[in-house]
Amino acid sequence: MVMRVLVTGGAGYIGSHLVDRLVHLGHNVTVIDNLSTGSLQNLHGAQPHIEFVEGSILDEALVERLVRGTDVVFHLAAAVGVGHIVEKPLASLITNVRGAEHVIGAAMAYDKRLLVASTSEIYGKTKKMPMSEDDDRVLGSTTIARWGYSTAKAIDEHLALAHAAEGRRVSVVRYFNSYGPRLDPRGYGSVVANLMRQALNNEPLTVHGDGTQTRCFTYVTDTVECTVRAGLDDGAQGLVFNVGNDRETTILELARKIIALTGSRSDVSFVSYEARYGKSFEDTVRRVPDVRRARDVLNFSARVDLDEGLQRTLTWWRETYA
Ligand code: UDP
Repeated sequence: MVMRVLVTGGAGYIGSHLVDRLVHLGHNVTVIDNLSTGSLQNLHGAQPHIEFVEGSILDEALVERLVRGTDVVFHLAAAVGVGHIVEKPLASLITNVRGAEHVIGAAMAYDKRLLVASTSEIYGKTKKMPMSEDDDRVLGSTTIARWGYSTAKAIDEHLALAHAAEGRRVSVVRYFNSYGPRLDPRGYGSVVANLMRQALNNEPLTVHGDGTQTRCFTYVTDTVECTVRAGLDDGAQGLVFNVGNDRETTILELARKIIALTGSRSDVSFVSYEARYGKSFEDTVRRVPDVRRARDVLNFSARVDLDEGLQRTLTWWRETYA
């Protein structure tokens, strides 16, 4: 069935890939994006087929008008990326709390199907691996800016789930380190983007700490496929899903892979967390998703492995920045 779909943050890195996929599936797509970290370049292929509205989710009247005219809302607009959050904590919190409240409120007021994009940052510094959707969250002090992101997104999730408990059609996805074409060193996916840029410029690859911290890198087509299913499948309603690959990679291993893949003359340079993020920064040492719910409910498993995903990202990078 063809649907009218609103994607907030649809010019962003994950958002624009989601838009491409929804257009490909034949849906009528509208995008609202303030082009803060997103760009029209990301929508180059999709733009003839969509309606693009430049605007902020902080503009409540605009959000309401756009939501009213759609069937399904994918809410991806947010201030993302740890660097960004730590640099601009206040603006990030306002976007991620008040902006999300506008989108969730409008979608519920007009009885629309809603998907809320959240983050693996929700789990904080828990030591339990893999991270399952119903696990405890373990956070640090409010004096550490990083945890404001997790907290803001948790409010969004609570709101969504409270509406779901009242019988509304809502689902939530938590992204685990998505990477791929269009990633932007300033925004989400910063480690892959940063290291690839450094490798291609033959600059040292900045590995924070000792590089033994791990992440599960998820190629963007996998991220998007799971998002579409969580947003459109009836069985997904009222549920939270981890969206990711469960193959764990250390940051040092990632850096070495990128050096080998690009044929770079660069070496690894270890940088202290304090030098990069300032005092009182706490990193997540390991982050591994439990992927069983996405598999069992959505019949989804990540398909693209890291070597292949990095190769595709590099091909895009070379075409774009040649
Ligand atoms: N990181 C790094 N070098 C960089 C950027 C990031 O070593 O140039 C590390 C960062 O400290 C973290 C991991 O890579 O341990 C992933 O960082 P990113 O910001 O990509 O995402 P996060 O998973 O922390 O949200």
